[in-house]
Amino acid sequence: MRFVERLLLENQAWSDEIKNRDPSMFDRLRTGQSPEVLWIGCSDSRVPAEQLCNTSPGEMFIHRNVANRVCIHETGFMSVLEYAVAVLKVNHIVVCGHHCCGGVRAAMTDENTGLSHLDEHLEAIRNVRRMNTDELERIADDAERLDRLVELNVADQIETLSNLPLIQEHWSRHQRPTIHGMVYALETGRLREIQRWEGNRHAPALAAAV
Ligand SMILES: [Zn+2]
Repeated sequence: MRFVERLLLENQAWSDEIKNRDPSMFDRLRTGQSPEVLWIGCSDSRVPAEQLCNTSPGEMFIHRNVANRVCIHETGFMSVLEYAVAVLKVNHIVVCGHHCCGGVRAAMTDENTGLSHLDEHLEAIRNVRRMNTDELERIADDAERLDRLVELNVADQIETLSNLPLIQEHWSRHQRPTIHGMVYALETGRLREIQRWEGNRHAPALAAAV
């Protein structure tokens, strides 16, 4: 069976299962959405936000790109952020990085990928690496060094988000959204929070995993 045929059949089975389990769900979804969280994650196929958090349709508003970047100069990203914060009024924003991230791995060196858009996108992560060269070079193990840059990349996004006028204004007027930095471990399936911002003007330093 071809892959797309499989997708359509799986979709049919999924929608039938939902109708059996929760007959009114699709009717409820027609009336609108009120997600609790904006999830900013990596496009990596191994990190499916809804599945790993076991959420249902309507619970998460999602933006994914290579290496979960907060791209404040991209209209596509900013329109998702504005809509989530100002219209959907989400209470939480999660920025989720993950172990074994190919985007972050590509940013471990200055070697171009040969893909112009990707290289432009990765430059910001390369800058995070450059700013933390001393710390990263002290880590002997390649995988551990990569995972640390994943954390630093998430922290960089929290810093960027928390300093945006959109976020500052909504926090001072409504005390939301709380911003969470998380890292997903592909090898265990576990998500952990590494940082939380609750209206402090500047994001705190990385905290121990909780
Ligand atoms: Zn990734």
